[in-house]
Amino acid sequence: MEERITGHTGLLALIGSPVEHSGSPAMYNYSFARLGLDYVYVAFDVKKEDTGDAIKAMRTFRMRGMNVTMPCKNEAVRYMDRLSPAARLMGAVNTIVNDGGVLTGYNTDGEGFVRNLAEHGVPVRGKCITVAGGGGAATAIQVQCALDGAREIRIFNRKDAFFARTLETAERIKKEVPDCLVQVCDIDDEAALGEAVGASDIFVNATMVGMKPMDGESVVKDTGLFRPDLVVADVVYNPAKTRLLREAAQAGCTCVTGKGMLLWQGVSAFRLYTGMDMPVEEVRERFFKE
Ligand code: NAD
Repeated sequence: MEERITGHTGLLALIGSPVEHSGSPAMYNYSFARLGLDYVYVAFDVKKEDTGDAIKAMRTFRMRGMNVTMPCKNEAVRYMDRLSPAARLMGAVNTIVNDGGVLTGYNTDGEGFVRNLAEHGVPVRGKCITVAGGGGAATAIQVQCALDGAREIRIFNRKDAFFARTLETAERIKKEVPDCLVQVCDIDDEAALGEAVGASDIFVNATMVGMKPMDGESVVKDTGLFRPDLVVADVVYNPAKTRLLREAAQAGCTCVTGKGMLLWQGVSAFRLYTGMDMPVEEVRERFFKE
């Protein structure tokens, strides 16, 4: 370490709260060292109300980049000089690149999801996709799939605080990507969910369900909805194999875990910071083994 960090070393960081269990510092620092890049990556616990100060510090310290996690993702948008089309549509930033004082906000979460599907031989172009969820991960997936040519997106959420956000996301997609059909339904409407899954090529769980303390639960109550030509993806990565994916696998569905999305969103961010490819296979082997 004392040989690697000098007065020239550039700084990158993750901001959000909590961040102490994040795998990002290990993934990025390994990749920097492996490729001989003179950067170091740390994590700072930053509360939502301190997002602006953290981004101001990024300018002061001439940091090359930042990843942004909850609860700062939406707030960070306000402090960007430029936004990528996806970040603007999502209203959230997970990657900030500092080019000589000009900050550009990107959102690679949806890209990570799409690249992970592609790695499983599943393109989103022309597909009908049902997505459960209306929070950060769900919005990123809905927007990116629309931008990448999905034919139709059916959004399901329970009638909680996120429901209004799903309606807003649907409106934004309709306006910006008019070729993509979008529909929003209550997830407790089991008949509508059944009809949507039946009409879909891909079903995605982008809710908290499946993650602790809901690790024994699944958003799909009727396992009869699973059929072998349905692709089922989960954003939850801990546990890697959620109840949803276990039940879908039993029915012969192609199953895609959330760990791959996490890896690929990092790969996309790494390229934005460095212009180089992360050593994906080594990183996967070291940090993303399932
Ligand atoms: P969020 O708080 O923004 O959204 C939570 C979503 O879960 C909302 O749609 C909410 O309505 C829904 N929800 C919560 N409890 C529910 C219940 N009991 N029944 C039905 N729906 C319920 O959260 P987020 O940031 O979008 O994260 C959601 C999940 O995605 C988490 O497990 C997170 O770890 C995961 N995630 C994964 C990646 C990845 O790269 N794989 C990236 C981001 C988030």
